[in-house]
Amino acid sequence: MRDAESDVAIIGCGPVGATLAHLLAQQGLTARVIEREPAAYHLPRAVHFDDEVMRVFQGIGLAEAILPQTRLSPGMRFLDPEGRLLLDWSRPMAVGPQGWNASYRFHQPGLEAVLRGAFADQPRIAFEPETEVTAVTVEAHSVTLATTAGPRRARWVVGCDGARSFLRGVMGGGMEDLGFDERWLVVDLILRRPREDLGDYSLQFCDPQRPATYVRGVGERRRFEITLLPGEAPDGVMPEAETWRLLARWVTPEDAVLERGAVYTFRSAVARRWRAGPLFLAGDSAHLTPPFLGQGMCAGIRDASNLAWKMARVAQGRAREALLDSYQTERAPHARAYIETAIRLGGLINTRAMAEALTNAPEEGPARMQSIAPALGGFVAPLGRPAPQPILADGTRLDDRVGHRFALLLRPELAEALPPTLADALSARGAVLVPHAPLDHAAMLVRPDRQLLATAPDAAGVARFLDLF
Ligand SMILES: Cc1cc2nc3c(=O)[nH]c(=O)nc-3n(C[C@H](O)[C@H](O)[C@H](O)COP(=O)(O)OP(=O)(O)OC[C@H]3O[C@@H](n4cnc5c(N)ncnc54)[C@H](O)[C@@H]3O)c2cc1C
Repeated sequence: MRDAESDVAIIGCGPVGATLAHLLAQQGLTARVIEREPAAYHLPRAVHFDDEVMRVFQGIGLAEAILPQTRLSPGMRFLDPEGRLLLDWSRPMAVGPQGWNASYRFHQPGLEAVLRGAFADQPRIAFEPETEVTAVTVEAHSVTLATTAGPRRARWVVGCDGARSFLRGVMGGGMEDLGFDERWLVVDLILRRPREDLGDYSLQFCDPQRPATYVRGVGERRRFEITLLPGEAPDGVMPEAETWRLLARWVTPEDAVLERGAVYTFRSAVARRWRAGPLFLAGDSAHLTPPFLGQGMCAGIRDASNLAWKMARVAQGRAREALLDSYQTERAPHARAYIETAIRLGGLINTRAMAEALTNAPEEGPARMQSIAPALGGFVAPLGRPAPQPILADGTRLDDRVGHRFALLLRPELAEALPPTLADALSARGAVLVPHAPLDHAAMLVRPDRQLLATAPDAAGVARFLDLF
């Protein structure tokens, strides 16, 4: 793709913009990724993603490239100032229903390198680094972007342009502030010598004086996030000697090299408008969360997955443009549910509330926490949640069989009983019929973004699926 036109122009090549480009290209659309900076962002950011995100990476053919860069996470533990376990959020270590593990640690620059490196294999993606989008003009059937490399035109534009999104400003509406606003020092270390005692679990130090977080990274990488008190690092820079003073209770310069440190203000907010005609927001431009659940980037990857198949279906003439309105109605409440949970968690780490609420913990054993699993907006669980990804009889994972199409999972007896005309009509709509046992329902209709759209007990119920897609 050489000329200045594409189906979709993506502003920003962070993990969300890069993933969206792959998803769109795999579904037949051309995507132009326009990125202001010459190289990927170098400061410490995401260290965790979940099974749903790994499934998206599987869908763009990059799970095998990303997997060796990850490390499975056993979960998170909350400790009181004396080091006693207050709350246990252990994660299963076995492969789960989505076909992947529940929780992966990773190094964001490494992930971004894989995503960008794979652009070269995808002729439908044009990547323009060191190019800034400076203006947006919406016309009748397309959008023209003014960029520092000249005009670029697309049918749709997605602002994956981060927390200070330029496109969000153009679209208007601003963000709803959900109230969290704290300054934290984030430090990435590389161990010089083994420190097995630091452990594999992420640790939340619920110290009312100075809450802090420890995360085991991949290889020798270790992350500490430490609350800053009023007046500390007023210019946003923490001197190295002061950083080591704050780390001293866990590590010293004999243990580790300080790779990078940064002062971040953790915020919580959701954009009021995710779509304005042909303009869309995805990732940090649409939502900001404190990082206590490790879900900021994950939410952005879910945005990309939700939007890409809808754009593809509209572009193919299989759905009306109105389908794109469901992007915000589905994604905004879902992202918000994670943000609100992260804020609650931050409240527990940050205040005496945790210690007070759990003073009985030693007698009863530590409280246990479960991962949340909200449904997309407009759905009632189990619909609007990720469908399982079974391994099929021939050893194939479901998604590898269906690609980016709808999947109709059927218990074998129903698959055999389905009238051929109905099976043909479903196939004509683009669904792949997959007989499989065992299933929770006789029939399960799964969208291309792997969300469960509908279930049915029998052939008559399956016939009603034809009204849904
Ligand atoms: C300390 C910390 C820890 C975190 N931990 C986790 C975690 O464990 N798990 C998790 O899921 N998330 C985590 N996050 C959040 C995660 O890092 C972000 O959600 C994610 O990086 C956002 O990706 P993005 O692609 O939306 O935006 P970004 O990565 O911010 O990318 C936006 C891009 O847009 C470009 N851009 C902006 N304006 C323009 C323009 N006008 N023209 C061209 N280009 C432009 C920028 O240069 C940038 O490259 C953490 C964040 C922090 C700060």
